[in-house]
Amino acid sequence: MDGAIFYRGPSMIDGSPIVGVVTGLRKASTNAKTGGMLQSYIIRSDVPPQVAVKDGRDAAVCGTCPLRFNPETGERICYVLTFQGPLAVYKTLADYPDFDPAMANGRSVRLGTYGDPAAIPIWIWFHVLQHASHWTGYTHQWRDRRFARLQALTMASCETVADRARAKADGWRTFRLATTPEKGEILCPASAEAGHRTTCDRCSLCRGSHPTMRDIYIGPHGNGRNPGRQLIQLQKAS
Ligand code: SF4
Repeated sequence: MDGAIFYRGPSMIDGSPIVGVVTGLRKASTNAKTGGMLQSYIIRSDVPPQVAVKDGRDAAVCGTCPLRFNPETGERICYVLTFQGPLAVYKTLADYPDFDPAMANGRSVRLGTYGDPAAIPIWIWFHVLQHASHWTGYTHQWRDRRFARLQALTMASCETVADRARAKADGWRTFRLATTPEKGEILCPASAEAGHRTTCDRCSLCRGSHPTMRDIYIGPHGNGRNPGRQLIQLQKAS
């Protein structure tokens, strides 16, 4: 299998059983925006991911993310298609070996290709990254003070100017879905608006707190049918 299990245990969000799997160890990701980074999937170990999305048990790995399925509207804004990568990982959990940090030697790692990095104990992430060249990461759990230490590794995902202000007041660097910048933000250079100038693998600006690094904004993107509508929905949901 082209992956390895780096965590199996309780979710740091709600205590449910989860598993963390790194993929792309032999065959680099073909994701056009991230480039050839190692990917990491954070899923429940006891229920298929697309089922967890529908019945709400995905809270163990996605927490209070506003992109989750909303049973009242019947809509889900998140662009990760859980019946693709996450389900493929879930189906082959029994076949993955245990992760060894040497497996990530000199590679970059995407923290939470699916699932929020906050669900994994932070010391596990330091273990995963000890031989990695660099990483990127984002969390929607920045409002929860239990996860303040993640500022060292991840950006706070924000959908509104007000949320960005709150996150910054708590010390986070921010990654905001927006069409125009606020002071201190620069456009993601891998975005369509920036002309796809690079990939996350080469850029790695989104790696958490740093006194001199700017915040990032990016226009609506992903697999959604109507990214512009997604942004409006997100700003309402936040
Ligand atoms: S700013 Fe860099 S690391 Fe962040 S999303 Fe854009 S390309 Fe990736």
